[in-house]
Amino acid sequence: MFQNTFKRFVLNSNKKSATHRFAKRCSSSVKHHFETMGDRPKYIENAQQETKGKFGPFLFVLLALPLVFVPLYTDYWIQSDIKNGDPLLEEFEQYRKERNARLAKQRAEGKNHHHHDHHELKVTSLNKSADEQYKYVLVGGGTSSYCAYKAIRENDPEGSILILTEENYAPYQRPPLSKELWQSSDSDAANLLFTAWNNEKAHVEYEPEGYKNVTLLTGSKVVEVDVINQIVTLANGKSFGYDKCLLGTGGTPREIPGSEALPRDRISTFRTLEDFKNVYRLSQSGADIVVVGGSFLGTELSYALSSHKTAQRSEKGKDVGSVTQVYLEPEVLARNLPRYLSESVRDALRSVGVKLKPNRNVIKVSLQKRSKPNSTNSQEKVEKVIVTLDNGEELEADFVLTATGIFPNTELAENAGLEIDPVNGGIVTNAELEARQNVFVAGDVLSYYDVVLGRRRSEHYEHATATGRHAGLNMSSPHMKPFRHVSMFWSDVGKNVSFQAVGEIKSELDTYGVWDGVAVSQNGTPWNNAPAPLKNESFKRGIVYYMRDNKVVGILLWNVSGARVMRDARKIILQKKQYRDLSELRDLIDVKQVPAKSNN
Ligand SMILES: Cc1cc2nc3c(=O)[nH]c(=O)nc-3n(C[C@H](O)[C@H](O)[C@H](O)COP(=O)(O)OP(=O)(O)OC[C@H]3O[C@@H](n4cnc5c(N)ncnc54)[C@H](O)[C@@H]3O)c2cc1C
Repeated sequence: MFQNTFKRFVLNSNKKSATHRFAKRCSSSVKHHFETMGDRPKYIENAQQETKGKFGPFLFVLLALPLVFVPLYTDYWIQSDIKNGDPLLEEFEQYRKERNARLAKQRAEGKNHHHHDHHELKVTSLNKSADEQYKYVLVGGGTSSYCAYKAIRENDPEGSILILTEENYAPYQRPPLSKELWQSSDSDAANLLFTAWNNEKAHVEYEPEGYKNVTLLTGSKVVEVDVINQIVTLANGKSFGYDKCLLGTGGTPREIPGSEALPRDRISTFRTLEDFKNVYRLSQSGADIVVVGGSFLGTELSYALSSHKTAQRSEKGKDVGSVTQVYLEPEVLARNLPRYLSESVRDALRSVGVKLKPNRNVIKVSLQKRSKPNSTNSQEKVEKVIVTLDNGEELEADFVLTATGIFPNTELAENAGLEIDPVNGGIVTNAELEARQNVFVAGDVLSYYDVVLGRRRSEHYEHATATGRHAGLNMSSPHMKPFRHVSMFWSDVGKNVSFQAVGEIKSELDTYGVWDGVAVSQNGTPWNNAPAPLKNESFKRGIVYYMRDNKVVGILLWNVSGARVMRDARKIILQKKQYRDLSELRDLIDVKQVPAKSNN
C-alpha cells in the first residue's frame, strides 16, 4: 500500500522536487485549516513575508558553516598537536593510518566483501541459514579459545565444538617463544620443544597429539559474525551456525614507519610461531639485529637473542652478529618498574652483550646499499636496513625486530555492532564476559567489568587462561557467574631476573619495596622522568607494593615465587585497606619465608 501511494506521488508530480511538493502539500492543508477555522492572524503573515526574503539564505549559510569548519579545525588541531609532540595523538594518528591502509589493502584484494566499514549501513536478513551447525563456535585458536574449549568439556562432554583459527597451527602457548625455546638445543627448538618450569620437556602446542571430540579448522579466517542469525562466516564463504560463540581473537602487533616496504626477512613483528621460526633462522645466520621496544617482549627478546648468539660464539668461535635494543624510555620496563629494578634488568641485558639505546624513538626504517664492513674493496656494497632515530642517528642492521605493543583485534566485533571500549580498547562485556546474548569474549581482546576494580583489559597469559576458562564455563552452564579473579603476569629475563605481578604495576604509582633487610619507598613518577638511581646489593629478592590513595593496588614478587604468596598478594589487593603508615607493609608477607624463584 505504501509503495503504491509513493508511486502515485512520484508519477503525479514529476516536475518539481519531492521536498518542494511535500512543503506545498503542507502549506495547502494549513491554508485549508485557516479557511475553515477563520482568518490567519495578520502578524503571522507579515512576519513570514519579512523573514522569507531577508533571513532565509543567511540562516542557511550560518547553519552550514560549522559543517565545513569543525572538521577542518579538528584536523588542524590534531596535526598541530602531533607537530608539537603529543604522543597520544601520534598514536591515534598512527592507528588511523594503519587501519585505513589495512582497509584499503583488503578492498584492493577484494577480500572484504564481508567486511563493512562501520559507517556503512548493514542490513542483516533474518532467517539466514548456515552450511553447518555447532553448539559452540570459538573464533581464534589462541590461549583463551583453548581454555574455553577445555572448560566447556567439563560441563558438556558431548556438545559439538568448532575452533576456527587463522593461523596454520593448532592452539599453542606464546610465552616460550621469547624465553625457553631460545635455551633449547637447535634440534629441540626445531621440534618446538623446551624445558618447562617443572624441568620436564614440553611442546609449545597444547595438544601435540591432536584433538578428539572437537572440530579444529586451521588457516580459517572468520570475516563476519552475524549476531542476529548466530552465524560466523569464513573468508572462503563457508558459514557455521552457533548456539554460543566466543571471540578470542587476541591482538595484532603495531608496525613502525617504513616497515610495510621491507620484506619479512628484513623486518618482522613477533607474535606467532611462524615469527619465531623466521627469527630463529635469521639469528643463526650471524645477522646484526636491532630490537625496537623497551617493554616486556622487547626486553625478553633482546636477552634471548643476545645470549643465544653468545652461546653460538663460544661454540662455533665465529662472528655471530650483534643485538641492539632501542626504546623510548630512559630504562627498559620503565613504565612498570621502579627505577632501581629497571636498572637490574638493564644490567642483565648488558651482561649478555646487548647494546642499549634508551630515550630514542625510531623515525623510519629503510633499505640502503652500504659499504661492506671489513672489505678492502670500497666499491663492494651490501644491502642494510637503516634504522633512523629521532636524534638523526642511523643504525645499520641486517634485521629489525619490532615489539611495540598490539592493537586488540576488534574488527569483527565492530562490524557485528558490538560495543568497543573507547578508553582501553577491546570488546566491551559485562562481568559475565558476555558482549551480546550468546556472544562471549576472552583474552587480550576482552574489556570486561570487574566487580571490584572496575572496567579493565589485560594482555597477559594467565588472564587469557582465566577469562577463557570462565567464558567457557558460562557458555556451557545455565547459571552464569561474574569473573572475579585478579589476573597475574610474569616475565623472565635470563636466569637472574624473574618476576610475577598482580594488579596495577605502573611506575607512575608510589611504591614501597620490602627487601632482605631494607625497605625502599619511592614516589611514583611518569616513566619519562624516572627518579634518581638507587644501588643496593639487597635488591636480589623482595616484594614491591604499588600504592594509590594509601591502598595497595598492585604487588610485584621479585625472584620469589609460590602459589601461596600469590594467593596472599591477591587477598591484600582485594581487601582495599588503607595504610597510613607504610611500614605496616613490611609484615604483610615475610620475604624470608617465601621460596626463591628457581629459573633454571
Ligand atoms: C612472544 C610472546 C611472549 C609472551 N610472554 C608472556 C609472558 O611471559 N607472560 C604473560 O603474562 N604474557 C605473555 N605474553 C602474552 C600472552 O601470550 C597473551 O596475552 C595471550 O596469548 C593472549 O591470548 P588470546 O587467546 O587472547 O590471544 P592469542 O593467543 O593472540 O590468540 C588469538 C588467535 O586468534 C586468531 N584470530 C584472530 N582473528 C581471527 C579471525 N578473524 N579468524 C580466525 N582466527 C583469528 C589469531 O590468529 C590467534 O591465533 C606473550 C606474548 C607473546 C607474543
